[in-house]
Amino acid sequence: MGSKRSATFVIIGGGIAGVSCLEGLSFLMPSETIILISSSPLVKTVTNIMPITKTLSHFDVEEKSLDDFSNLHPGISIIHATVIGLDSQHHSVILTNGEIIQYKKLCICAGGNPKIIAENNSHVLGIRDTESVKEFELKIKNASKIVVVGNGGIATEIVHEIEGIEMVWVIKDKHISATFVDPGAAEFFQNQVRKIEDKKERERSMVKRLKYTTTSEGASSSVKGAALGPDWHRSFELSHERNESSKVIIEYQCEVQCLKSRGDFTVPPDDEWPIYVELTNGKIIGCDFVVSATGVIPNSQLFVSGNDNLEIAEDGGLKVDWKMETTVPDVFAAGDICTASWDKAHHWFQMRLWTQARHMGMYAAKSMVGSLRGEEILQDFCFELFSHVTYFFGFKVVLLGLFNGQKLNGEYEVLLRVTKGAEYIKLVMKDGKMQGAVLIGETDLEEMCENLILNQLDLTEYGEDLLNPDIDIEDYFD
Ligand code: FAD
Repeated sequence: MGSKRSATFVIIGGGIAGVSCLEGLSFLMPSETIILISSSPLVKTVTNIMPITKTLSHFDVEEKSLDDFSNLHPGISIIHATVIGLDSQHHSVILTNGEIIQYKKLCICAGGNPKIIAENNSHVLGIRDTESVKEFELKIKNASKIVVVGNGGIATEIVHEIEGIEMVWVIKDKHISATFVDPGAAEFFQNQVRKIEDKKERERSMVKRLKYTTTSEGASSSVKGAALGPDWHRSFELSHERNESSKVIIEYQCEVQCLKSRGDFTVPPDDEWPIYVELTNGKIIGCDFVVSATGVIPNSQLFVSGNDNLEIAEDGGLKVDWKMETTVPDVFAAGDICTASWDKAHHWFQMRLWTQARHMGMYAAKSMVGSLRGEEILQDFCFELFSHVTYFFGFKVVLLGLFNGQKLNGEYEVLLRVTKGAEYIKLVMKDGKMQGAVLIGETDLEEMCENLILNQLDLTEYGEDLLNPDIDIEDYFD
């Protein structure tokens, strides 16, 4: 039997959600004991927060060693260990070394793992944490052709960032970057994909946003680190040794049927490659390696075992109510590991992004404190409106509300203004009211759109003038 420790609040995970929860707890109840358990030797902290609107902020992310992080929070115990079990009946978690940590309130922020199209294949790589990007960095140096599978933010960034090789981008949709944008915006970006073939053009479109410190001394490759986030690629050398421009071929509306090695063919292909990808459109593509960027699976299974009343949602996340509490009392969850299972506000939905990991972590802290004190809390305002800011192909991309017509069953109109190579503005309208917006480029419209989505003002009388470049529409709504 291992030793025992206890604390009022215990947090599992040192990603954005866990660290935000810790900061919230230590601010709200500095006198209570707090333990954070992280299997990774690095934690993620949010710095330089710059509010853009009420719900949207830019922030930098810094990785810190557990020691440096401990020095910043002297009153908090930080344990570098992996949790292997939850015993919710006895309010405790068990660590690999057998140690038992008891809690009054627990917050599980253990993130997710990449869904990999083939496990245990050395020619298939999933990108999740610093370790996996390092592996990618090594492999890409000697590669001449890779296949990228997936159509979300990670795949989009890889296609934009990688230099000097041929890339085949396999997407199941009709247009690129479908997780975030519609076909019109994809067409806007498509011009940028073409420009990837012109390296100089590409360098001009680069943006610098994030500082990343990626020292991972002592990191063991067997433990899972925190998920990366925006600008993960900036600290790495993601170019081929020849440092030339890239060629990108997009295979639309298809998926990977199977992976083959040369020996699997009765008639071996002419070109010799370490791995061949057979697509559902019948094409066979040989390449040096495959990048699997097809989303994450929440790390929830470990916590379910022995806790029958801990409910899992269809997507594998721990179900949480509007207070971020799971179906087991005193066990909260936040970030990629959880699934929002409350009656959500019309203009908000969950996407496993770090803005939401941060909001959820901070709000879980508030809920845990309220629960300990027996006080009622109100749901945080950030869950009223989906908002996200990111950069694709060098452009600022702001997504607000039902930006892709989510939840509207196709019953909406779109107002569009496009200036090739400069901006793409899409407003999603229903019954004269704004439901969502995609703002690409420096549009300066984010605050106005946020207000109009939140207050549901009837805009019928403005019609298409809402996007008339000759009218300063902001003046109407300030
Ligand atoms: P994580 O960051 O995954 O942290 C989980 C933590 O739990 C880690 O510290 C891990 O070590 C620890 N842990 C796990 N299991 C255990 C255990 N059993 N015991 C102890 N500790 C454990 N989001 C955006 O908003 N914009 C982007 O542009 C963007 N780009 C991305 C690019 C990449 C390559 C990736 C992988 C993700 C990206 N994301 C992006 C998503 C974003 O990074 C995640 O949504 C967010 O970081 C999730 O935070 P989290 O704290 O919930 O989980």
